[in-house]
Amino acid sequence: MPTADLLMSRGETQKTLHERAANAAVSQFGRQVFIRAVVEISNFCRENCSYCGMRRDNRNLSRFRARHDQLAELLIHHRPASVTDINIQTGEDPVAVREVVIPLIKTLQRETNLGVSVCLGSLDKTLYAELKAAGASIYIIKFEIADPAEYASLDAPGTQPERLENIRHLAATGWHVSSGFIVGLPGQSEQQLLANFALARELPLEGCSVSPFIPGDETPLANSPGAGIDLTLNCMAALRLMRPDWVIPAVSALNLAEPGAGYRRGLRTGANLVTINLTPAEVRDDYLLYKRDRFIMTEERILAAVDAEGLTPSSQSLAEFYRTRKINGAAISKAAVTAPA
Ligand code: SF4
Repeated sequence: MPTADLLMSRGETQKTLHERAANAAVSQFGRQVFIRAVVEISNFCRENCSYCGMRRDNRNLSRFRARHDQLAELLIHHRPASVTDINIQTGEDPVAVREVVIPLIKTLQRETNLGVSVCLGSLDKTLYAELKAAGASIYIIKFEIADPAEYASLDAPGTQPERLENIRHLAATGWHVSSGFIVGLPGQSEQQLLANFALARELPLEGCSVSPFIPGDETPLANSPGAGIDLTLNCMAALRLMRPDWVIPAVSALNLAEPGAGYRRGLRTGANLVTINLTPAEVRDDYLLYKRDRFIMTEERILAAVDAEGLTPSSQSLAEFYRTRKINGAAISKAAVTAPA
């Protein structure tokens, strides 16, 4: 577990922290990073998180649901060659899950060998089962904020007990679960920050992200100060050292926390997953997670960042990596149990 001093470190202590984290990632994964693409399918959301522009109370947003045929054509015939996995993301919109996401997963399973992740929020358990039956295997569901009072005061999704129950349910029903938390929220104390690590450690996760708080356009927190890049990177490094085996993404918000350099610094701090944005151009400006003026991570930008940091794209998909690791892990523990004394 990190200490508050470590998370606030600067200078030589910080440099050593980041180097140790980068080395831990290389020891575990080599110099390879996973490359996925995200498609943002719907910006309808029934939740009202204070830190997100897609919250239901934002009446200035044009709401959209992308069409299955438009996305299928894009992902089957026009995706970048480096992409091994697709992450399908929406606001919390069960209609889009039923009408677009599940048919799209089935199409991708039939037509491609892409791994499929989904990031669709808290849903009914029958929908989780339908998504899995369709062919998705990785569920990204951020716990967002560990401190219960902070969670409630910022109107994070649903209730915290429900959110955590969903995470545990997904893992118990065979999903590979990745979660995440936000650092630098307005008024966040050191104890609240550290609580995120304690909660991440006790959840049944295979990956976790660290997102800097960005004061989102059209939110109640629009005038609050954003998280500093140093705090964000220190948290990423501490997370990598806490769980060297986890898949930790470089999130696109690093570009907002430090324009021009934040993303590459994330790759220098133990991240081993990058994301190309393939959301159709005509709708992505309304996918208002942070700012209307988005910095879109194209394949060219992603590959340039990966290359500049001396890393290489993985040819194995993240879904395949998790699947084989689980099988090998099971085989190892079985052998350990049955080996003669
Ligand atoms: S963070 Fe997610 S659940 Fe919350 S308002 Fe935004 S899209 Fe909806």
